[in-house]
Amino acid sequence: MGTFQIDFGGATRRIVGIDLGTTNSLIAYMSRAVPQVIPGADGDALVPSVVSLTTSGEVVVGNAAREALVTNPDRTIYSVKRLMGRGVEDVGDEVKLFPFRISSDRGEVIRLQLGDRSFTPPEISALVLRQLKQNAEAALGEEITEAVITVPAYFNDAQRQATKDAGRIAGLDVLRLVNEPTAAALAYGLDKRKEGIVAVYDLGGGTFDISILRLHDGIFEVLATHGDTHLGGDDIDNLLLRIALEDVASEWGEDLSENNEAIQRLRRAVIDAKHQLSTLPSAHIELEFLGRRYRRELTRELFDRLITPIVDKTLQPCRLAMADAGVTPEQIDEVVLVGGSTRIPLVRLAVERLFRARPHTELDPDKVVALGAAVQAGILSGVVEDQLLLDVTPLSLGIETMGGLVTKVIHRNSTIPASATEQFTTAVDGQTNVLIHVLQGERELVKDCRSLARFDLKGIDPMPAGFARIEVRFLIDANGILNVAARDLRTGKEQSVEVKPSYGLTDDQVESMILESIEKAEDDFHQRQVREARVEADTILAAVEKARQNDAYFALPDEEREAIQRALNELMVVYHADDHLLIRSKIDHLNQATMNLAETMMNTAVGNALRGTKI
Ligand code: ADP
Ligand code: MG
Repeated sequence: MGTFQIDFGGATRRIVGIDLGTTNSLIAYMSRAVPQVIPGADGDALVPSVVSLTTSGEVVVGNAAREALVTNPDRTIYSVKRLMGRGVEDVGDEVKLFPFRISSDRGEVIRLQLGDRSFTPPEISALVLRQLKQNAEAALGEEITEAVITVPAYFNDAQRQATKDAGRIAGLDVLRLVNEPTAAALAYGLDKRKEGIVAVYDLGGGTFDISILRLHDGIFEVLATHGDTHLGGDDIDNLLLRIALEDVASEWGEDLSENNEAIQRLRRAVIDAKHQLSTLPSAHIELEFLGRRYRRELTRELFDRLITPIVDKTLQPCRLAMADAGVTPEQIDEVVLVGGSTRIPLVRLAVERLFRARPHTELDPDKVVALGAAVQAGILSGVVEDQLLLDVTPLSLGIETMGGLVTKVIHRNSTIPASATEQFTTAVDGQTNVLIHVLQGERELVKDCRSLARFDLKGIDPMPAGFARIEVRFLIDANGILNVAARDLRTGKEQSVEVKPSYGLTDDQVESMILESIEKAEDDFHQRQVREARVEADTILAAVEKARQNDAYFALPDEEREAIQRALNELMVVYHADDHLLIRSKIDHLNQATMNLAETMMNTAVGNALRGTKI
């Protein structure tokens, strides 16, 4: 079969899973089919995503670097995830909040200044990854070279690429990037359900993300994401810190708000109290500083009242995400909590109220993404059985569109399972049937691709050409079975077919198909342009033909009718020429000649003729 399976050479490989977070990062692995996080030398599994360069030129990462945020703020970098894969232009005001120096060479690439050295964001992330890699190597006693890394679902290509780059710089082969919400769902084994809608609510240190996923046949599809890039536990810390500073000022008659060390210690104190309040009804904020002592009780009740506005700010993005995904709370089958801040009871309550379902809390919310990454790694390495292998579609899959052309729906080398949806429209007025012709291959023309299946979607509401909306959905499941479904979005009528695309193809044949497409690429491109021009010509010829039966046509002055006739003839003469520019110029002529006619007829067919790719 034309898929690329990993050869385990008898033994399974070790692939780790990594949650590269804004605030904290973790590494995990599969220990006899059970995911486990790996702590560092300090016993802490959470490695703060902070990098500092000491004055003696030594790089420190994690808890040690976090201390340096206060002692050495201009040589310490945090929240670098916010800068990954972004240009100086994109980050705008965001960078002004950072105390460390940010420069840009040649205007584009962000560089972070650490002492006399400068680093790109992926290089800083690589230092965090290297620390995680070392922790894992020390714990497992073997070299680690392959990883799965998680990224936010909303990360774009550049941000994903930057994450991969970070892995490569750290000496890790990043076999796959997995969306954080998907990883969380995997950690809970939700992929074992047949299907369902999953909401993943992730409130971390500095960011809030809500994702609505749809599960079908073991594939998670991200239906919608929303969130707030500046909302999280940090806001709670800042709120409590401000209150404590005011308290101290009134008790001691001294303003500590400019004293870095005092602030750092008070910040630790409020964070400790905040963490305790997740399990206890009350806690104390305590500070001993310069021989004086501050101690204040904070009850859960007061705490809840203080943070209510922060918690409430997460609700609107949730509603928007549900609206975007087109689901109501009742339709959500599972809710998963992610991020350290979801330990807060008030947060859990708010989530439960909103989604009207009890959220999953069985796993540590700040570890769940890393655990899911390990599950995915286990799937790839074959430790987790009866699951997906790293398979890709060896050839593109698509459908036939007007003019004998192939429109690709799933591109070659997509990892499977995979799914994609495209919308098409009809080519002819009153068309009630469409033929869906499923093809495989890299070439542009139907005749050069391999035909896999054909089926009819019948009973479409008759409408002018270009008005029908037909959704074609391709889904390749974990076993490489392709399901193609076509649906008329107006009537909801649906028709589908199942095929095994790789059936009967040897690896050699796949390879030669790919090679051929590269050789013929230029030729194919030309052919596609010619055919597209002809499709356009067909449309306008048909529209004009129809218009000529209209009274408005006969009302035109003679010379205008003659001009139309001339333009029509010219287009028909060049129609079969192998020159798309020529065809297009005649189309333009005809368009101009019929402008008046179209206007008087209010004939929308001409204007609408070119909307949408026609089946
Ligand atoms: P990120 O995904 O942004 O890297 P995390 O998921 O690790 O962040 O969440 C970090 C946040 O969780 C911090 O603000 C931290 O104070 C908070 N947090 C961790 N444990 C608790 C707890 N027990 N109660 C309340 N907040 C907590
Ligand atoms: Mg996180």
